[in-house]
Amino acid sequence: MNIDTLVRNNVKNMSSYSSARDDYSGGANKNLIYLDANESPFENGINRYPDNKHKNLKTVISKNKNINVNQVVFGNGTDEILDLIVRVFCNPNEDKIITLPPTYGMYDVIAKTNGVENIEIPLKSDFSIDTDKILGLKTSNIKILFLCSPNNPTGNSFEINVLDNLIKKFNGIVVIDEAYIDFSSQKSLINHIDKYENLIITQTMSKAYGMAGIRLGVGFSNQKIINYLNKIKPPYNINVLTERKALKELNNIDEIKKNIDLVLNQRKLLISCLEKLDFIDKIYKSDANFLLVKVDNAGLRYSQLLEKGIIVRNRSNQPLCQNCLRITIGTENENKSLIKTLNQL
Ligand SMILES: *Cc1c(COP(=O)(O)O)cnc(C)c1O
Repeated sequence: MNIDTLVRNNVKNMSSYSSARDDYSGGANKNLIYLDANESPFENGINRYPDNKHKNLKTVISKNKNINVNQVVFGNGTDEILDLIVRVFCNPNEDKIITLPPTYGMYDVIAKTNGVENIEIPLKSDFSIDTDKILGLKTSNIKILFLCSPNNPTGNSFEINVLDNLIKKFNGIVVIDEAYIDFSSQKSLINHIDKYENLIITQTMSKAYGMAGIRLGVGFSNQKIINYLNKIKPPYNINVLTERKALKELNNIDEIKKNIDLVLNQRKLLISCLEKLDFIDKIYKSDANFLLVKVDNAGLRYSQLLEKGIIVRNRSNQPLCQNCLRITIGTENENKSLIKTLNQL
């Protein structure tokens, strides 16, 4: 597969924005006077533009993930990276993507915002991928296949060999959204980015890393794809405060790991408590920090919980999710309150 042929011509032919700091490459230890970017000269910690190459953050994250620094792209949340991917490859009113509902709602929103058709191939009733249907599509101009593993809102991971097979056989870009990978019993496919020309992995600081508020998403792929994404990326999409906070938190990776373990223990505990409730019909197996739970009447149970001050997500209107609530794993105390409240219903 030649990735260049999948890229939009306008993206191929353009140059990226050249910022003031791109022109300068000087020695590091001099006392430099910056009169190149029309910034305010009065130092307050945020008067300078961020590094548009995100060098420090890239070094830390690539080391952490054991990959090369030029295999990383950052976004203002994963959502921005997903949008960049669609804009690199999909011509408006011409190209198409595939998504597998029930899944993350942003793929569809991003496609439609960009004038790109979203072909939906629903998961099978056991939430597994309908590979034959995807590979059997006769439609032309399909550029991207979005897979979410572990999937939101179903919580399951897809089997590695199923994903591998799709990456090999799908005639376009395969994006695997690994937002919940740190809660999964299954390994990340990040090590496959060298092996395949058409694979992009996305991860996020928003879930397991506890930094949803700073908006930092990370994309991993081969250098060729990363270069295209960087080419159209808003140069300063990661702001100074985000970079600073992320570096600080990533310095304390043990704390992050400890919190992941706490969530995994709480997930187990919560399942054992929910199993005892007679209005819960099914608790789906979860590889994420939430549980998808089928109840007798999702609307009713949602309102009852809300009345007691507990907010869950009603996913009933999603295909295959009739009467399903999605419950995020909270702290030990929050989960205790949830169970106590549910027991009273
Ligand atoms: C939460 C979530 C994200 C994270 O998006 P950010 O923009 O990084 O906060 C991405 N994909 C899925 C499937 C999610 O559930």
